[in-house]
Amino acid sequence: ARIKGDYRFELGELASTLNYMAQEIARTNQIKDDFISSISHELRTPLTSIKGWSETLNSGGYDPEETKIGMQIISKETDRLIGLVEEILDFSKLEQDAMKLVMGTVDLRELLQEIMLNVWAKAEMKQIKLQLDSEEEAYLVHGDGNRLKQVFLNIADNAIKFSHESSIIFLSLQKIGDNIEVSVQDTGIGISAENLARVRERFFQVDHQNGGTGLGLAISQQFVERHQGQMLIKSELGAGTTITVSLPALQAEQPVEPPQLTEG
Ligand code: ADP
Repeated sequence: ARIKGDYRFELGELASTLNYMAQEIARTNQIKDDFISSISHELRTPLTSIKGWSETLNSGGYDPEETKIGMQIISKETDRLIGLVEEILDFSKLEQDAMKLVMGTVDLRELLQEIMLNVWAKAEMKQIKLQLDSEEEAYLVHGDGNRLKQVFLNIADNAIKFSHESSIIFLSLQKIGDNIEVSVQDTGIGISAENLARVRERFFQVDHQNGGTGLGLAISQQFVERHQGQMLIKSELGAGTTITVSLPALQAEQPVEPPQLTEG
């Protein structure tokens, strides 16, 4: 009777393990399907535009002004493609745990100022103002400058994308205990509590009409974690979103290293 009982137990356990594995495989397949459909769509849009404009320009007969506009669109759409491909490569490297960080000393204040310059034109198109609130001093962390830049660029890009015209985005830097906190606060469309729980998931987007891949926050979250930091997202639907990234401040005894560039 004892053996019979054991068998039943083992079979039950085996069945639930198999069931769990089947669910995992289904989940992974679903993620792959979502990935392929979202990426294909994102790649097709710029490619269609590049192909259309290059054929038009190739057929000739356009005045210099029209030619210039066509060339600018081709260049902008090519940049968009490069950005997408880089995002996909980063994501796949992170998934395979093959992402190497190139650590150095990073001044987050300098980094944020650089980011404000980077997104300035995008903000300007919507008459959005960016305001940085910080002391006039260095906010040093030990990290990979290029990767941290990607994190804050993604957060700032989203803040602009989901903000209303003529609004203000507040960026702030604070030293709190042993950490440095960077906050990006917008007064845009906000995120419902239900969606907030999911925005860091890979490929998740509240609305698929806004472009993007849904990978930005998933990648940012992983980069922040790789820096022993934390990312906190607070949001209220219709009122706005605040994303706060907290990173360990460089301690006095840590040597100050020269900034380095990430290879590849
Ligand atoms: P992507 O920007 O490529 O869609 P992200 O991972 O960066 O991907 O963001 C995922 C989703 O989270 C966005 O599609 C959007 O629905 C929501 N989101 C992110 N940031 C904000 C924000 N500042 N305001 C409102 N919604 C946001």
